[in-house]
Amino acid sequence: MIAKLLRAAHLRMLYRFAPLARHRYARLCATMLDQPVLLLSFDCDNFEDIDALDRIAEFLGEMNIVATFAVPGEIIQSARGQFARLSERGHEFMSHGYRRHSEIQSGQYTSTLFYHKLSDAEIAEDIHGGNEVIGELTGRKPAGFRIPHFGHSSAPAELARVYDVLISADLKYSSSTLPRCGILNGPIYLTEEGLWELPVSGMYSNPFSVLDTYSFGFNHKTARTAAEFLGNVTGLLDAFSGRPVCLNLYCDPSQAVRMDEWFQAMRRIVQSGYRAMRFDEFVSQYADKQRVRP
Ligand SMILES: [Zn+2]
Repeated sequence: MIAKLLRAAHLRMLYRFAPLARHRYARLCATMLDQPVLLLSFDCDNFEDIDALDRIAEFLGEMNIVATFAVPGEIIQSARGQFARLSERGHEFMSHGYRRHSEIQSGQYTSTLFYHKLSDAEIAEDIHGGNEVIGELTGRKPAGFRIPHFGHSSAPAELARVYDVLISADLKYSSSTLPRCGILNGPIYLTEEGLWELPVSGMYSNPFSVLDTYSFGFNHKTARTAAEFLGNVTGLLDAFSGRPVCLNLYCDPSQAVRMDEWFQAMRRIVQSGYRAMRFDEFVSQYADKQRVRP
């Protein structure tokens, strides 16, 4: 246990250097993958995301991209028809709990519910509630789950509380961890609880920060711009050029549709030869290639 903690601390120090972190991630990807892969996921946490879905679906269709949508049950129930059409178009639904966990207050995206503040029973109730709504929507139970605001409950004990519920509900994977887990373990790894975990990707400029849409113009605490979002994606494509790397990108529809650079970035990823896959497809195809244990 102590050796493991020391190893993790040592790796965190070493991979603070962005090129080393990217090199390690690409090397781990190359041991598992035979092609560059885009895992594109959309968190639909707010009612405003529903308004953006038609534009997003149209673009994904044009680009031949299949994606995975993480949507709380309450949001699905408020626009069931629109979400059902996404499912019919071949996109996957990842469970994301039942209750809404965010709202936009005075133009700011504000978190309203955190799993680490809930009891075990409340977590289980929320997860089962979300799974049920997805089962009703798609006709089959979800394969995976994303913890609301994954960055806020990444302590191992907090993750374990959620993973235990996911395993008891027979889910196969989670995509709830931060880029540092990808740098340490690769694009997919088996947790101690026995669940596959797929960490989201980090920025080019800072491999430990999530490359999401929120950080580029929607988080009032940072001054990053949409142009920097495109710059980060282009930086990664150049750095990983020709290598079988997985980009696991997390976006909010209501933010993506307001960034021309987001559309440009997705086009460049596809033009660079990345194959878009649903998370469940990725798990079936690559989980058994995973060699590194956390
Ligand atoms: Zn969310």
